[in-house]
Amino acid sequence: MTEKKRALNFLEQIIEEDLAKGLSPDKLRFRFPPEPNGYLHIGHAASICLNFGLGLTYEAPVNLRFDDTNPVKEEQEYVDAIKEDIKWLGFQWDKELYSSDYFQQLYDWAVLLIRKGKAYVDDQSSEEMARQKGTPTRPGENSPYRDRSVEENLELFERMKNGEFDEGTHVLRAKIDMASPNMLMRDPLMYRILKKSHHRTGETWKIYPMYDWTHGESDYIEQISHSLCTLEFKNHRELYDWFLDQVYSGENLRPKQREFARRNLSYTVMSKRKLLQLVEEGLVAGWDDPRMPTISGLRRRGYTPASIRNFSEAAGIAKRDNVTDLALLEFHIRNELNKTAPRVMAVLDPVKVVITNYPEGKEEQLKAENNPEDPGAGSRSIPFSREIYIERNDFREVANKKFFRLKLGHEVRLKNAYIIKANDVVKDGSGKILEIHCTYDEDSKSGSGTEASMRKVKGTIHWVSIEHALQAEVRLYDRLFTHEAPDSDKDKDFKDYINPESLQVIPTAYLEPSLENVDPGDHFQFQRLGYFNVDDDSEPGSLVFNRTVALRDSWARMQQKK
Ligand code: ATP
Ligand code: MG
Repeated sequence: MTEKKRALNFLEQIIEEDLAKGLSPDKLRFRFPPEPNGYLHIGHAASICLNFGLGLTYEAPVNLRFDDTNPVKEEQEYVDAIKEDIKWLGFQWDKELYSSDYFQQLYDWAVLLIRKGKAYVDDQSSEEMARQKGTPTRPGENSPYRDRSVEENLELFERMKNGEFDEGTHVLRAKIDMASPNMLMRDPLMYRILKKSHHRTGETWKIYPMYDWTHGESDYIEQISHSLCTLEFKNHRELYDWFLDQVYSGENLRPKQREFARRNLSYTVMSKRKLLQLVEEGLVAGWDDPRMPTISGLRRRGYTPASIRNFSEAAGIAKRDNVTDLALLEFHIRNELNKTAPRVMAVLDPVKVVITNYPEGKEEQLKAENNPEDPGAGSRSIPFSREIYIERNDFREVANKKFFRLKLGHEVRLKNAYIIKANDVVKDGSGKILEIHCTYDEDSKSGSGTEASMRKVKGTIHWVSIEHALQAEVRLYDRLFTHEAPDSDKDKDFKDYINPESLQVIPTAYLEPSLENVDPGDHFQFQRLGYFNVDDDSEPGSLVFNRTVALRDSWARMQQKK
């Protein structure tokens, strides 16, 4: 991983201050705590790069902790996908841990709280409790069950645990302060009854701990020095600290919660609930659909681990909510592939060109550089013959002076090949061009050193030899939503903004034959068209390519023109 010299972010400053105040560097420990209720997305990548990045900077362990306290939504499939994605991003966790491993310890501590008079069982419905909650400016009311005896609380809590009560009939609440200005401190729930099978603990538990009770105590058990979470938990910090106060021994390390802004990306949604809707309603092909902002979707689309890490680093860690431009993510993959992706020729929307003065039956192998940005990438040969395909929009019968591609009576260079001149067209009854008849300048072969080969013509276009071309399906993607912030509009459903043109499938594109033996995941630049990778659906003889990103940010240019 490349170390970049940059100013410390505010979280690193906090860590530096703690070290300066005497925290021993070997006490530093971080965690990444996903809930296994969906696939990781580019927002999670911010948290992953932050936590694992701190681990690398300070040579400190980073735990992967599955925050699995809600059996209703969690599945093993998600656990497996999350591990795969973190590894793919290039990070290695120290311990793989589960909040559910702490259920017994959390239960024992809850009993301790009851004994200390700091927690009680409430028999009211959630509606009744909500009515007593008050408002930020009006204090709440105490529950009629608040002053139950310790004995009664212990008995009821044990019976909750044993499954003697129905869901929704009892909860365990912390006894804090129903008049606190922080609503979260008004006797928050610690446990609810849920008679659901858990992906790891099975039928063992009939009660499950709430997030706030679980998270800080898990940090304490693991001795996490800095528990970094997103800003929506800022109000929870007081409760995090209160829960820690109840169990903190005074000797061990005491974890500290600090908050940073979520990563939001334009033209997409990032909530797992919404991403799940897209998957379940069939609006995308799955969690790894190349239009999804998931790590698996980006991987399938052709993004690389380094491009995502570099994007995360460039976007930075902020104190306030903000939206990062999708163009920044695209910039990083384009930048990387420009250096690494072999150049090849592919024609997506073909029109036939016949070179009338090129001998029938002749073919020759022309030399083409694989990557002008990388001299070490070498060269390959590509076949040339009398009949080739070019892109339909690279030809016009008549065009103005700014059209540097092929037009009647004018010359253009075929990339890595000859200069040709268009003389004539053959059309069908509807006026559609079937063939363009050209002649070539035999002495103009690229790289041959002749005077004619050095001749300057304004345009260069790509092509493939028809006889030698491979066929492939090519999938072109555009942003999944037409709106910059699809879920910002309260009166509309985010799905109303789905871009109907986010996927365009070209069933038959024509590729140069060097692409015969590609493997899923391989990256290429289709010259003049963009960066493409081989899709997971691809097989020898039925190739499938995805466009990862266009060569230039045409979207930004279009927006400027508006
Ligand atoms: P979602 O709203 O998508 O369900 P979440 O916060 O519930 O997200 P978790 O699995 O709980 O998802 O997140 C794991 C970690 O990743 C948490 O520490 C969380 O704060 C962080 N995280 C999640 N989304 C983002 C984001 N958009 N930007 C930065 N960090 C994030
Ligand atoms: Mg969460």
